[in-house]
Amino acid sequence: MLWTDTSLLIDCLMTASIRPAANTLRIHWMTLFLQVPEPGVASTFPSVVSCNQRLAKVRWPEGPVCVGCQGGEVGFLESRQIYYCRSCNYQCSVKAKTFLHRSRLDLRTCFLAGEDIIRCHAHGNEWSELTGHAFAERLGVSYVAARRIKKSLIEDLSQVGGGLMGKCICTNPIPKPEDINKNSREHYFWLYDQLPPPQQR
Ligand SMILES: [Zn+2]
Repeated sequence: MLWTDTSLLIDCLMTASIRPAANTLRIHWMTLFLQVPEPGVASTFPSVVSCNQRLAKVRWPEGPVCVGCQGGEVGFLESRQIYYCRSCNYQCSVKAKTFLHRSRLDLRTCFLAGEDIIRCHAHGNEWSELTGHAFAERLGVSYVAARRIKKSLIEDLSQVGGGLMGKCICTNPIPKPEDINKNSREHYFWLYDQLPPPQQR
């Protein structure tokens, strides 16, 4: 495990000289990363429909609610993946009135982008791996679309608990040991120790 040891040493040296806030940020991203299910997002959510279903469950755990009138009498057109309200006739997709509302990318591409952003931040590689062109190439989308979705996803995923996207794709809880204080150096290294090398995930 030479790679891990060397990397850990470099990180020790770096974390000794950087602001505590940077450690806290890294703890946030490492926690999210370790909560992404082991097989990865592509296997866990193999289709756009499965991603739509996941977002619907996260948004409306008690069943769909109309985003127009907040009513609960909502039907679903499976073939078009559209919800419709029986009270006010409002029609919308599962992304309506979320931060993804205006994105033209399908939800599975957004899920995969979210996983990629979490992975890069967890490993501290975001400056080298999340450049617009590299990110666009990995997602198979245009440079402009990649930049847009990256900005929205980073804003969302940076929220406490990982925002809406974090709730969708970080489905594997990892409770912190009780004897470790949240956001402490021990917490940082406890998480760091569990990170797989970048090439394995
Ligand atoms: Zn309605």
